[in-house]
Amino acid sequence: MPAQLIDGKVMAASIRRQVANDAAALLQTGLGIHLVAVLVGHSPAARVYADNQARTCHDLGIRYSLLELATDITQSRLNAELARLAADTTVTGIMVHLPLPAHLNTQETQYAIDVLKDVEGVNPANIGHVVYGHTIIAPCTALATVELIESTNVPLRGAEVTVVGASRIAGKPIALLLTERQATVTLCHIHTRDLCVHSQKADVLVVAVGKPGLITAHHIKPGAVVIDVGINRVAAANSQGHPVEKTVGDVDFPSVLPVAGWITPVPGGVGPMTVAMLLKNTLRAARLVHKLEKPF
Ligand code: NAP
Repeated sequence: MPAQLIDGKVMAASIRRQVANDAAALLQTGLGIHLVAVLVGHSPAARVYADNQARTCHDLGIRYSLLELATDITQSRLNAELARLAADTTVTGIMVHLPLPAHLNTQETQYAIDVLKDVEGVNPANIGHVVYGHTIIAPCTALATVELIESTNVPLRGAEVTVVGASRIAGKPIALLLTERQATVTLCHIHTRDLCVHSQKADVLVVAVGKPGLITAHHIKPGAVVIDVGINRVAAANSQGHPVEKTVGDVDFPSVLPVAGWITPVPGGVGPMTVAMLLKNTLRAARLVHKLEKPF
């Protein structure tokens, strides 16, 4: 029997409805939700993303502002802008579009995002809190991954989980959140000697690398939950044989489908859930700023 699809779009839609309801309840008490997205320079792709974000926030009753800054802004000026947003009591959420121009330091910039307003959970302090299991605001992709796994009802406590890819923004926080849920977690990276040894024992396999086709059927334990975080644009042909680009994950979906028990598609799996987690975090940040919830 082929694997069951874990439908990130359906789950994300349900989370958005919940966020819309919670946002309406907050607004009724007279408290605001205001997300400010910072965009340095003039990237058309980031602009499209920001426009989509603005529409989504508007639909959910969340005020959204885009703060556009000049490409040649200095690091100290950018830090000062972030400090100003941190101090502004009308702003409840802050995010910075990446990538930044090469002369700016991403980590220094993320340090400058107020910890309580950091809706993407990218401030190293927020990533660090994952270690202590009492996240203030956790990284969106890691939250999305955990929710997708939990939707299968496969118990995480005691499960063998292998995470492939060890970046600060995806693989490592995912591994930490799953460790908190008492799974036995193996974290694989570029120097892992034999990936198959670790992937084949996994009840849950999470792949966050950025290499299409890295994981094929022979990597999979039959019946495993497979979460594909990767997003890759690859060349393909349309039905008329014309060259087109399509989006695929890191998992060779057609070969893994008959072996796995559950699998996330790409697109339509982790991607929409990561966006939904950003919205959930935006609500959490507003509640933290308004002191309706405690950080710990
Ligand atoms: P990244 O910073 O490039 O990290 C990739 C990680 O994979 C690194 O730890 C790298 O090790 C490791 N790696 C490289 N080749 C490997 C191999 N053959 N075997 C095992 N590990 C290997 O990328 P990222 O930001 O974590 O993103 C990973 C993928 O997830 C990308 O496709 C990205 O687009 C996607 N992504 C999706 C979402 C979403 O919402 N769906 C969110 C974030 C990221 P080294 O650093 O040592 O090379």
